[in-house]
Amino acid sequence: MEINIKHKTIICPICQRDDSVQKITAAVSSGTMTGSFSGPTSTFTSDGNSFKPGFGFTTVSGSARSDLAKLLSPPPKPKERRYNQGCGAATLWFVVLLGGFILIAVVLGEVLGEMGGIFVGALIICGIGIVYAVQERDYRKNELPELMRAYRKGMKRWERAYYCYRDDIVFDPNDGKTCSPDSLITDFYYSDMVR
Ligand SMILES: [Zn+2]
Repeated sequence: MEINIKHKTIICPICQRDDSVQKITAAVSSGTMTGSFSGPTSTFTSDGNSFKPGFGFTTVSGSARSDLAKLLSPPPKPKERRYNQGCGAATLWFVVLLGGFILIAVVLGEVLGEMGGIFVGALIICGIGIVYAVQERDYRKNELPELMRAYRKGMKRWERAYYCYRDDIVFDPNDGKTCSPDSLITDFYYSDMVR
């Protein structure tokens, strides 16, 4: 019995050859090095007048990615929230708003009296909060689904894209679209996003 495997050769649309192309998923995984290094280190420190030798033992571990592998990484996932906030940013905002509230209340308090200042200050801060919440809702309702759609398309493109080492170009064998590794995110993965 004869087994026939049809092998479709992928050729680069620029140089029309197949000898230096690699799937970028493979290029990315082969460009990631994981391991650790440890060994003795020696240093010299100077206090201005004399040099002091120092000895130590250093361990470096983790994974390092080559620059190319970094450029060929999959498209970035859209942010879940319009205003990306970690705990630190949230705390900062709280402090800024509280500070703003006190400042407004004190300044307006001179004119409107203490209670008037507090009332108007609270009103302004609430207004800012409402604007923020509306923008956040708008992002999640309208922008995020659009971005997620583009992201899924981008991921599919990433999965089937190839890289030509000769021309330093990424291409999609499906439609022959090419792109320099520097502008992949905007011109290749998210290229059909309306801006
Ligand atoms: Zn080529």
